[in-house]
Amino acid sequence: MAAQPKIFVTRPLPAPVLELLAAHCEVRLHREDNPIPIEQLAEACREVEGLVVCGQRVPEAVLIEAPALRVVSNVGVGYDNVDVAACTRRSILVTNTAGVLEETTADLSFCLLLAVARRIVEGDEYVRQGRWKQWEWGLLWGADVYGKTLGIYGFGRIGQAVARRGGGFSMRILYQSRHRASEAVETELGAQYVDRETLLRESDYLSIHVPLTAETRHLIKAEDFRRMRPTAFLINAARGPVVDEEALVAALQDRAIAGAGLDVFEAEPRVHPGLLGLPNVVLMPHVGSATGETRLRMAMLAADNLLAALRGKRPPNLVNPEVLR
Ligand code: NAP
Repeated sequence: MAAQPKIFVTRPLPAPVLELLAAHCEVRLHREDNPIPIEQLAEACREVEGLVVCGQRVPEAVLIEAPALRVVSNVGVGYDNVDVAACTRRSILVTNTAGVLEETTADLSFCLLLAVARRIVEGDEYVRQGRWKQWEWGLLWGADVYGKTLGIYGFGRIGQAVARRGGGFSMRILYQSRHRASEAVETELGAQYVDRETLLRESDYLSIHVPLTAETRHLIKAEDFRRMRPTAFLINAARGPVVDEEALVAALQDRAIAGAGLDVFEAEPRVHPGLLGLPNVVLMPHVGSATGETRLRMAMLAADNLLAALRGKRPPNLVNPEVLR
């Protein structure tokens, strides 16, 4: 019997997924739920043909030490953590888990929108701290969501799923994206394609759903906050560096915008100290896809991608198809 391919898994994934991998591969597992220092990762990858990564940077320095590596399977849809260009140069396949986490991440985006609009975190603290003594007319006024304008920046899988939720709240949906969606999609979601200026100017809630790339780094910067409404809220559950965090803090402090709901930050897990003191900001620790059901689906899909690649088949979620050409 041929030797099983060696693989390295960088997180303690669910047992059924590890069992599936162990049935076909010689698995080495990093059992701790934290990122691995790059030198250690490079050391662990010396003999492996497959790598399953999650919240883990994979720079070229790792690939240089891994001559047998054939596939990097990323447990996540965003793959800005992997040097894809360097993988492609070395004919290493890169895969992601698109198709199983969009609805869950859209739920979290909408959750942030509702939480910041209706001051859910402030209200929770108010009750817990025993400050609630009587019903008050003027207590914790928020902003309406229904009937307002929801601007979506990046109209892909998650952006469209957020639009669907906005429709359920009778919102007017505007979007800006690299490409215009089909007429059928626009009609189904009641979404209108607008230019960047209009999106910034007319959105009551601006929700970001672009991937992090060289073009989208600081896509939202100081002058953009000045174009937004002073009553507008920014929601970001995409990637932190898409928004200039320093400029966001200044905009919030100057009341150029009304608030923000953030799942992602520029230098995670560091959060800009200016954000921590602001009551009109809801902060979450990058948990957009973090439900039990979705995390299991993501890990299983990552295993399927890896096993297909190791068998010489085209993986279901290939990010760099040019390697196969
Ligand atoms: P997707 O389906 O690829 O959608 C991204 C959309 O953004 C596409 O429509 C894309 O246009 C558009 N876009 C790309 N560059 C752009 C630019 N420069 N200007 C305007 N639009 C641009 O991806 P998705 O599945 O919706 O995921 C979006 C991102 O969410 C991921 O990349 C990931 O970083 C993030 N995410 C975060 C979490 C979390 O835990 N918070 C969870 C899941 C995903 P094209 O169609 O032309 O490519």
